[in-house]
Amino acid sequence: MNDDARLRFSIDTDICAGHGRCFVLAPDAFVSDDVGYGQVNERAFPSGERRAMDDIAFSCPEGAISIREITG
Ligand code: SF4
Repeated sequence: MNDDARLRFSIDTDICAGHGRCFVLAPDAFVSDDVGYGQVNERAFPSGERRAMDDIAFSCPEGAISIREITG
């Protein structure tokens, strides 16, 4: 893993409505489950990609995507 890979996406599964934008826009970060709901893969991203990650998170119509910093 990249030493600067400090950020990960999260999906609030209580909010996700299965629009599928996340895995269409960022197939390296999200996949579809068996019924079309987004799932996060475990890829971490460097902090320099925060802005692009924010754009992807904002593209979710339900606001279900957040970004968390990996600690420790
Ligand atoms: S774009 Fe949002 S609502 Fe649609 S599948 Fe992804 S997380 Fe769920």
